[in-house]
Amino acid sequence: MIPFSPPRIDDKVIAEVTEALKSGWITTGPRTKQFEKNITAYCGCKTTVAVNSWTMGMQVLLNWWGIKEGDEVIIPAYTYCASANVIVHAGATPVMVDLNKEDFNLSVEKVKAAITPKTKAIMAVDISGFPADYDQLFELINTPEIISQFSASNELQEKLGRILLLSDSAHSFGAQLDGNRSGSLADISSFSFHAVKNLTTAEGGALCFNLPADFDHEAIYKEMCVKILHGQSKDALAKTQKGNWKYDVEEPGFKCNMTDLQAAIGLIELERYDENLARRKAIFDRYVSGFRSDNWAIEPTIVTDRKVSSYHLYLLRIDGASETQRDEIIREIFEQDVSVNVHFQPLPLLTAYKKRGYKMSDFPEAYNKFANEISLPVYFDLSDDQVDLVIDAVKQAVNKVLG
Ligand SMILES: *Cc1c(COP(=O)(O)O)cnc(C)c1O
Repeated sequence: MIPFSPPRIDDKVIAEVTEALKSGWITTGPRTKQFEKNITAYCGCKTTVAVNSWTMGMQVLLNWWGIKEGDEVIIPAYTYCASANVIVHAGATPVMVDLNKEDFNLSVEKVKAAITPKTKAIMAVDISGFPADYDQLFELINTPEIISQFSASNELQEKLGRILLLSDSAHSFGAQLDGNRSGSLADISSFSFHAVKNLTTAEGGALCFNLPADFDHEAIYKEMCVKILHGQSKDALAKTQKGNWKYDVEEPGFKCNMTDLQAAIGLIELERYDENLARRKAIFDRYVSGFRSDNWAIEPTIVTDRKVSSYHLYLLRIDGASETQRDEIIREIFEQDVSVNVHFQPLPLLTAYKKRGYKMSDFPEAYNKFANEISLPVYFDLSDDQVDLVIDAVKQAVNKVLG
C-alpha cells in the first residue's frame, strides 16, 4: 500500500530527539527557543512563537486581538474545519466566502462584498501551499472607505486602525509571493506542524508576527509566551534559576506551549527543509507530466510569475466527474493499493456548520472544486516508481468509471 503522507523519521531525527531526552530538559526550553529563531530567519517575519498546534496558536491569537461575540471574521468556505472552529470558540461569527476560479484560494472580490462594520479580521488560507492574494487583500483593507467603516474595540485594534489580515499557513511553509516567504505575507500567520504537514514536530505550530513597524514585536513575543503558559509571569526554565521560584499570574491564560522534544524534530526538519521542498517539487512535476495527455485531468495551479507553492497537496481534478463518480474513482484507486484523499469538504457540508445556517449553494465554486477533486500522495520518501504507480492507478480508475 502506498500511504498518503507518512512523516520523514530517520536516524537524524531520532538522534536529535534522543539528545533532547538525555539533556534532561523535555518541556519548553533551549530547543524551542532555537526553533523559533530559525523559523523567524527562514520566514523573514519579525518574531515567532512556537505552540502545540495551529489551532491553539490561532485561538490564543484571536483572544489576544480581542475577537469576541458580535465580531465577524472572513474565511473561505473551502478549508479545514479548524479555521472556522477557532472563530466560533472566540464567540465570533465566521463569514464564509467563495473561491477564485483559477485556484483554490478565497476570492478577493467576494471578500470585499462580505466586509461589514463588524469585520475585525480576514483569515486567508493557503490551500495546498499556494499563497492567497495577500497583496490585493492588503490593498483592499487599506482603502479609505473600508478603513472608515472599521470600528476598533480595544487598544490593539485602535493602533492597527484597520481589519487584521491573518494567514492560515498550515499548508504553506516555504511558499513564496514576490520572493517573500509564507510567515511574512500577512499581519500574523499560523503554521501547523501536525504529522501530515510539510514540516512536522508530530503535533505543533507557530505564530509568525509581521505587524506594521510601530508594533513592538519583542514585547509581543513576551506577552504571547505568558499567554500560552497560563498567564504565568515565568516559564519553567526561568524558574530553575537560583531562588527564582516565585511567579505571578497576570490573567487566566491558555496552555499550549511547544516542548523541546517537538522542537528537536522541528530543528532537523527545518535544517533540511529546502531538500524536502525540492523533492516535493519533483513529485509535483512528475504528476504534471504524467497527466498532461489526459484531457480529463485538470491540474492545480502551482507556480505563477509571482507565486511559488510549498508543494503540500497535489489537488488533481477530474473534469466531468460528479461527486459520486469521484468517490467511485477513489474506491478504484484504493483497490490498487494507493492511498488518496480529498481536501477539503467545504464547511457548509459539515453538520456543525450546516446547523449554523451555512448553505453549500451559496458557494458554487467551492462545491465545484470539491466535487471532482482527488489529492494524490506527496512526501519526501515517495519514490519516482511509486509516483508512476499512483499515476497508473488514477488513470485506470478514471477510465473504468468514466469509460
Ligand atoms: C492542519 C490544518 C489546520 C490545523 O492544524 P493543527 O496543527 O492540527 O491544529 C488548520 N488549517 C488547515 C488548512 C489545516 O490543513
